Amino acid sequence: MEQKGILTVISGFSGAGKGTVVKKLVEEYKYSLSVSATTRQKREGEEHGREYFFLTKAEFESMIEQYGLIEWAEYVGNYYGTPKSYVEDCLAEGKDVILEIELQGAMKVRSQFPDALLLFLAPPSIAELKKRLIGRGTETMKVVEERMQRAREEGRYMEQYDYLVVNDDLGACVEQVHGVIQAAKLRTARNLELISRLQEELIQY
Ligand code: ADP
Ligand code: 5GP
Repeated sequence: MEQKGILTVISGFSGAGKGTVVKKLVEEYKYSLSVSATTRQKREGEEHGREYFFLTKAEFESMIEQYGLIEWAEYVGNYYGTPKSYVEDCLAEGKDVILEIELQGAMKVRSQFPDALLLFLAPPSIAELKKRLIGRGTETMKVVEERMQRAREEGRYMEQYDYLVVNDDLGACVEQVHGVIQAAKLRTARNLELISRLQEELIQY
């Protein structure tokens, strides 16, 4: 039987490079990326259904009521949530799924999927983080400050994650994240069926 896919959560401060790293992981290693729903405004270059499903507040609240989300959270004045069916279908088909979500969502995923892998993507320094966030040019200075404030709060919980990967050199970071996910798939606890089969064969041989 094919192994169930692994669910990986990637979190990190705004501007750390999550979107950039995840895009490369999908391109290079064919991970399935869950597209979240959000009520935030579309940034230039973003497309409905690609970066996010851009919803009104009423549409988002209706998804919550219909139990259509695995988790959802409010982040700097907007709702963000993970649609349920895509993730469940992919995992059942043996695909490895990545969720790029913030801290509260990550904790909710862990309680629902105890074998999910939680990975925190850190910037090499906070000065570099702010430089990237400003350099991206998608937020006003007010929003940049709000996101930096949010980073101060989230920074207290980095130890809750299973792994910490620093995004300094992009290519090296992508390789490390891929390596961590592949190693997590080989954990004995995720391979109990294979263990049982081999044990059974040992008895019968
Ligand atoms: P996040 O999704 O975590 O908010 P982004 O992926 O949008 O962050 O990256 C924020 C900015 O930093 C972007 O302009 C991106 O091009 C840049 N960036 C991402 N990774 C690196 C890196 N390793 N080195 C330098 N700049 C990076
Ligand atoms: P951004 O507005 O920069 O795209 O995302 C803001 C924050 O929301 C990031 O920390 C991102 O990881 C998080 N986020 C994106 N999608 C989801 C989601 O479905 N659920 C939760 N809880 N957070 C999300």
